[in-house]
Parts: sequence; C-alpha cells; structure tokens
Amino acid sequence: MDAKTALKYAEDHGARFVSLRFTDLVGAWHHLTFPIHELSESSFEDGFGFDASSLRGWASIHESDMLLVPDPSRFWMDPFAEEPTVCFIANVVDPITKEGYGLDPRSVAARAESYLRFTGIADTAYFGPEAEFFVFDSVRFYNEQNAAGYEVESDEGIWNSGRGSNGFESPNLGYRIRNKEGYVPVPPADSLSDLRSEIALTLESVGIQVECHHHEVATAGQCEIDFRFSTLLGTADNLQLFKYIVRNTAYRYGKAVTFMPKPIYGDNGSGMHCHQSLWKNEKPLFAGDGYAGLSDLARYYIGGLLKHAPAIVAFAAPTTNSYKRLVPGFEAPVNLAYSARNRSAAVRIPMFSQNPKQKRIEFRPPDPSCNPYLAFSAMLMAGLDGIQNRIDPGEPLDKDIYDLSPEELKDVPSLPGSLDDALSALEADHSFLLKGDVFTPQLIERWISYKREREVQPLRMRPHPLEFALYFDV
Ligand code: GLN
Ligand code: MG
Ligand code: MG
Ligand code: MG
Repeated sequence: MDAKTALKYAEDHGARFVSLRFTDLVGAWHHLTFPIHELSESSFEDGFGFDASSLRGWASIHESDMLLVPDPSRFWMDPFAEEPTVCFIANVVDPITKEGYGLDPRSVAARAESYLRFTGIADTAYFGPEAEFFVFDSVRFYNEQNAAGYEVESDEGIWNSGRGSNGFESPNLGYRIRNKEGYVPVPPADSLSDLRSEIALTLESVGIQVECHHHEVATAGQCEIDFRFSTLLGTADNLQLFKYIVRNTAYRYGKAVTFMPKPIYGDNGSGMHCHQSLWKNEKPLFAGDGYAGLSDLARYYIGGLLKHAPAIVAFAAPTTNSYKRLVPGFEAPVNLAYSARNRSAAVRIPMFSQNPKQKRIEFRPPDPSCNPYLAFSAMLMAGLDGIQNRIDPGEPLDKDIYDLSPEELKDVPSLPGSLDDALSALEADHSFLLKGDVFTPQLIERWISYKREREVQPLRMRPHPLEFALYFDV
C-alpha cells in the first residue's frame, strides 16, 4: 500500500490525529502524536524529527536526533483514542545518512527478510506466536527502597481476575480454579471469557485475524489468544499491536495484564511458542517424507535452532524472569531436543494436520517479554545457518523429558539457567547473526551490556524477600 491509500484511509475515517508507533531496544512500544494536518505525502519520506536519547538502550545524548518515518503499508484507527486517531508503524531513520538507525529493532527484522531472499533458500519466512499472559485485578508497586521491589496482592484468589466483579461486594471465590488446572474450563471458573472475546473483536477491527482464545493452565487468570501467522516483520508488528490491545481492553475492565514470563512461583509461566516455516514461490519447504512429515531442509533448520538456542534465548527469553519459567515441571522446555509428540522438548512438530501447507515447527523457549523483531530475526538466522551448514539435529526424543533419568539425559544439552548465562552464550556465539549485516556488532554489544548493567546486576545485588525467610535468624 502506498502513501495515497494511507492518506485516503485517514480522511475516510475522519482522523484528527496521527500516532506513530515504534519499538525501543528492549521491546516496549512508544508513540508520538501529531495533528492530522502535519501528515502529507512527503511525510512518508521525510519523516518527523524526535529525540531518541531517553529511550531504553538507545542513542547517547550526542546522537539523539532521529526521524520517525511512517510505513504506509501498516495503518489502523486506534480503537481506544477519544479523538479519531490514525496509527502507523514507523521506522527510525538517521537524519544525516537517511539509513535505518542501527539500534531500531524493526530495521533488523527488515534486513533478516532481505537476507533470507538473498540466500535464495526461500523468499518468505512465516511466524505464528502464541503469546500467553496473566490478567490481574490489582498490582501494587512498592517503593524502590523496599527490598521486596514489588508485591502482588495475596495469591489467595483476590487477584485471580474476575472474582469480585460480579456484583458481590467482596470477591466471590466459589469457583476457584484448582492449582495448575486452568486449562480451558467453562465459566464461571473461566471468568475472563467475555474479556477475551472483546479483545478478539478489537483485534479483528484492526486487521489481526484471531484463530482461538482460551484460559490457560495457570490458576490465576492466565489466558491465550492466538492470531493468524504472517511474515516475520508483519508478525512482529502484529504482536506489538496485539499487546497494546490486550492491555488496553483489560485496562478498561479495571484490570492489569502482564506478559512477564513467570509472575507466580509454583504455577505455569507464560510462554510464546513460535511456529515457523519457510516458503519459496508459494511452496512450503518444510513438508517432506522424513520424520513427522518434515523435509531435510526443515531438519537442518531445527539443527540450527537447537545448536544456537543458548544464544537465541538471549533475545527470545531476554529477562531475568524468563529463566524462572524455563524449569522442569511447567510445560516449559529445558532440554534442547525435538519431537513430534513431546511438549517438553524445545522444538515440537505439531501433528494436527497432514496438509503440507500447514507443516511447520514450533520453537518453545521464547516468552512474550521478548522484543519480537529481534527474537524472530535471531530464530530465522539460526535456522538458516542450520540449512547452510547442513546441521543434523540428531534423533528425535519422543519421551517425556521431565521423566528421564540423569543417565538418559546426559547427552541432551539444556538451555542456559539464567539470563547471565544466555548473554555469555550470545557473546561466544553470534557470527550467525552478523551474516548479511542483519544484526550489527554494535547492537549485540549494546544488548549484552544493557542487559547486564540494567537487569542482571541490579537483581543480583538486591536482597530478596525469600532471603529474609531463609536467613534472618541465622
Ligand atoms: N505455559 C507453557 C509455557 O510456559 C505452555 C503451555 C501450553 O501452551 N501448552 O511454555
Ligand atoms: Mg496454544
Ligand atoms: Mg498455551
Ligand atoms: Mg504451543
């Protein structure tokens, strides 16, 4: 779609403002808003100036002037704005060189797609994420000085969203979900069904096609809403818009949504399994007659994902909290294996359909705290490296990995146990990301130093509430 079509859409919908959306290094969405008279055909080339220095992980103060250049192919009317507002996703562009800003995650995703075409292996990579999330009734942040950092109200049901909003004065706990039994019950146990339906309709109103929504396994208001796969860049854009719509719809219900991977100790965390496949000339390249209906090319792609998984998760499971999810016993993967049956393996091959067009692989370590532009690009680059170097993923592991003995597990590698370990893995293994200048050395260095200085170290240096329980009286 071109600038003229976009401008006509804005006019037809009576837009009075234009909001430009972009993603910072760690994956948060931001926007600047302009009166509609500021938008013209030339805006799609000249962009709008803004200060990129105050955003997490970005430019230092002496190189802070950047341009936001709206992409005319992605627009929608904001379902939440009081005044009619047309939204665009914008690229961050250096005003001097007119090139994409090296730390703009969207430019990484665009280069990953060009690199894919350049290799000749395929012309399109499709991604379909299953982003799980929790809906809470109330979250209380504590003062930064408090050792606890923050605390969520009692885990005895008050924050299990929906209770208490049914006309009773105090929370009605009659239909509590039993521990780890939250998978797809009907209402009233599933008290969030109407909220999810409203989210689904709002998603469809902005062009995101919903496939299914349901309550997830965790007791305290865990949900999943699946939307249709698209290209790497298109899906990353969709995911940012998805999170925005999920959060804002819940906010209107007086609730708070979190995509952090492990908000509650002892219950399932939130993953973001990523389904992926490669296509060339509209033909699916992953379908074949090997194990689980896969082609050799798909096997090599899996080989690349498994080989580079410890480095990939520095982007795909990029928070200290991510590693509290990646532990045995909660349907999250720990070991680097693949299987058609096994949901404890890092790579699963869904067997729901024998249609070659639906043949895909599911990479399970990612979680929804990731920056999707960087995470999808890292997965694609690992898979391509597997194809280019014919990396054999070995035999599938069709047993429940959680039940294997240490002897049986000794040859199965596992994921890093902490963000710090994942960052070390990325430090040691990133040449597959630098091919085609998809990731820049500057971005990888900035990522590692930002994550260590701003997340790993501050957490390591803070006394934890559990330490008081364990050590106060020693
Ligand atoms: N919540 C699980 C995870 O952390 C996945 C559960 C599921 O979708 N089967 O990956
Ligand atoms: Mg699912
Ligand atoms: Mg799920
Ligand atoms: Mg899944």
